[in-house]
Amino acid sequence: MTTRPLDLIIIGGGPGGLTAGIYAQRAALQTVLVEKGLPGGQLNNTDIVENWPGTESIGGADLAVAMTNHAKACDLEILTREVVEVEPGLDEHIVRLDNGDELHALAVILACGGQPRRLGIPGELENYGKGVSYCAVCDGFFFRNKDVVVIGGGDTALEEALFLSKIASSVHLVHRRDAFRGGMILQKRVLAEPKIKVLWDSVVTALQADASGVQAVDIRNVKSGAEQTLPTDGVFIFIGFEPDNRLVPAGIKMNPEGFVITDEKCETSINGLFVVGDLREKYIKQIVTAAAEGCIAAQAAAHFVEGKKSKATSCPL
Ligand code: NAP
Repeated sequence: MTTRPLDLIIIGGGPGGLTAGIYAQRAALQTVLVEKGLPGGQLNNTDIVENWPGTESIGGADLAVAMTNHAKACDLEILTREVVEVEPGLDEHIVRLDNGDELHALAVILACGGQPRRLGIPGELENYGKGVSYCAVCDGFFFRNKDVVVIGGGDTALEEALFLSKIASSVHLVHRRDAFRGGMILQKRVLAEPKIKVLWDSVVTALQADASGVQAVDIRNVKSGAEQTLPTDGVFIFIGFEPDNRLVPAGIKMNPEGFVITDEKCETSINGLFVVGDLREKYIKQIVTAAAEGCIAAQAAAHFVEGKKSKATSCPL
């Protein structure tokens, strides 16, 4: 077991975590960022980003690489390991890794994001990877010139339906209401795309599959009650996001949906423990908001660490 006293540990290498790393390095904090997979987070599953200021259009994976390289150029240490536990303490916080190592730091920034919400219908989990997908950029290639169904009406569903329309021969977009939640530009593009057919007021109630994977979906119109079975080769589910709050220590305030409640400095109800990005309760989840929170939390952590250190070195009266 190794013990390394650090100023700051950042958990998660998405836009929030990487930006926190850049600002922490610039604030001369002794920092380690721990990421279990590829840095970049959800950017790696994003086709094109068109709302990162200063860059009209960039591939999500390219932006992930650019952010990672920027953080590395600031000499940020990125450790590829899984964090299994965060134990808050009065003097320092302990971060336990999957290999049994422990890291100790005065401040911790949790930037763990989350994962796509599951629909919870029969056949969904059994056919994951056999026609069921939560990532068009990752799996779209397997559906070249095939028919696919996309479920959802938010920005993600609209973006991914457009992405899939370039690959698949047809896209049925199934949305449970009669209006999209996603932004107007995406709505216009989706409605103008001849390969996309929108099934309004409709829900997918079950998947039909055989040993080779998904064959069809059962669809019900929630207004008329009409039911139909639509043959398809794949089902892409984009119905929102579940925060990954497994590492959030007991006692930290969360909202009923499991997002962590923080103050304007992104600090939680435990001193020196910050949360940024999609795990944090907020009005809007965007790359730019995650990055902004990374900046705020790193600056706040720098002040916190400075305060801790000056207290520790000041002489008692
Ligand atoms: P979202 O905005 O929460 O949208 C989820 C969609 O799924 C909604 O249309 C919702 O329907 C539908 N839905 C939820 N549960 C369902 C269920 N059980 N059955 C059927 N449909 C269901 O999620 P998101 O699209 O993943 O986006 C998450 C956040 O990231 C948002 O803040 C979004 O703006 C942001 N984002 C932004 C961009 C961009 O700016 N380029 C791209 C992607 C994501 P209702 O509308 O009826 O609730």
